[in-house]
Amino acid sequence: MTITESVTLMLALLYGASQLWWAGKRYGAIVAVISLFAALIISASPVLLVATLLAVMLLALLQWRQPELAKGNVRINQLRSGCQHLIALALLIVAVQYTMNTLMLKAGMEPWVSRPNVVDAFLPIAGAIEIKGIAALGLWDQTHPAAAVMLAVVLLTGILCKRAFCGWACPIGLAGEHLYQLRKRLIKEELMPPRWLDWPLRMLKYLLLAAFVYLVAGMPAMGIPGYLQGNYHKIADVKMALFFLTPGLITLCCFALILIIAAWRRQGFCRYLCPYGAILGLLSFLSPLKIRRNHEACLLSQGLKCDKCTRACPSNIIVHTKTTVLSDECQACMRCVAACPKKAALGLSLPGNRHVSARTLMLTVLVIMFFLPMLAWLLGYWESQTPEAMRMQLLQMINHVGH
Ligand code: SF4
Ligand code: SF4
Repeated sequence: MTITESVTLMLALLYGASQLWWAGKRYGAIVAVISLFAALIISASPVLLVATLLAVMLLALLQWRQPELAKGNVRINQLRSGCQHLIALALLIVAVQYTMNTLMLKAGMEPWVSRPNVVDAFLPIAGAIEIKGIAALGLWDQTHPAAAVMLAVVLLTGILCKRAFCGWACPIGLAGEHLYQLRKRLIKEELMPPRWLDWPLRMLKYLLLAAFVYLVAGMPAMGIPGYLQGNYHKIADVKMALFFLTPGLITLCCFALILIIAAWRRQGFCRYLCPYGAILGLLSFLSPLKIRRNHEACLLSQGLKCDKCTRACPSNIIVHTKTTVLSDECQACMRCVAACPKKAALGLSLPGNRHVSARTLMLTVLVIMFFLPMLAWLLGYWESQTPEAMRMQLLQMINHVGH
């Protein structure tokens, strides 16, 4: 793991431990602290040790000055926004580190910053091929192992926490939200498509997902070792980065369309185009977590008018008339819960109406996002084994490297 990844992991573990402690889940906090110590000992990194000590001091300072903030006793929307922005910040730092590493290799220099393996999260097709290789042949990829790990992370969040990855972690969703808010400042009206158009547009993301599944499922298992050992796979991350950084005319038009859709309709990209949104939407039906409304406690049962939950929903789900929200578009963002004036009336809950707090949901997502990569790293299934010298060599002839 690079130092950026280790420090992010350490911060997540430390924050998770403190939140578990304040939530009364003392065993969970102890496990998180033990994991942190284990990571510190195994990595034997003085930088990580200093960063941990600094983080502990900062946390103590926060606990002293802003105890409610330190304990996570903040509004649901603040908690979600903080979580999204911190993850986006970590990814931004990773992007800078990755760009520096790649530019130095391209210039033929020995890089003094290493490549963060977490960027392999942006290679979902490679990740799916790797998982197929593991399942069909017992073959573990050595080039971008983190791609399979990060794909597994996202899928697991879907099974356990619905689309909470979209609502609480995805930086693209966050960027879309900011773009939409900016557009709303300029043009105040809601520019919603009519219902007859909304449904077919929503199906677009499933078509894209089907295309990716067809691509991976159609690849013969015997062809996987050749692909994973090929030069294209070794620099698939750079090919992907170049696709975004040096787009052709058609790609530029696609980007412009995506930006317009994201600005035009709230969560437009997630709702209409994101294949991750599609697969997480399908997996969300397996999740035991659902938004559930207790009619007895709801204002409607007292003959009063209320639809605050529905109006707060960015996915335009009709919440106030449902007992259980069963929608592939629900991102478990809990905005509806935050908007409800009767706390007992609406919540994210397990079967049996056992409510799950926003803090618990966030911690579950973070635990999956950070523990699985840490486990993979401890088992030696995280770091790419492709030498920098080979990447440097391939980068010099990148335009000639094809499938
Ligand atoms: S139903 Fe509630 S949790 Fe689901 S997307 Fe709408 S506001 Fe978010
Ligand atoms: S906001 Fe709460 S009280 Fe109002 S309709 Fe929704 S669940 Fe009922």
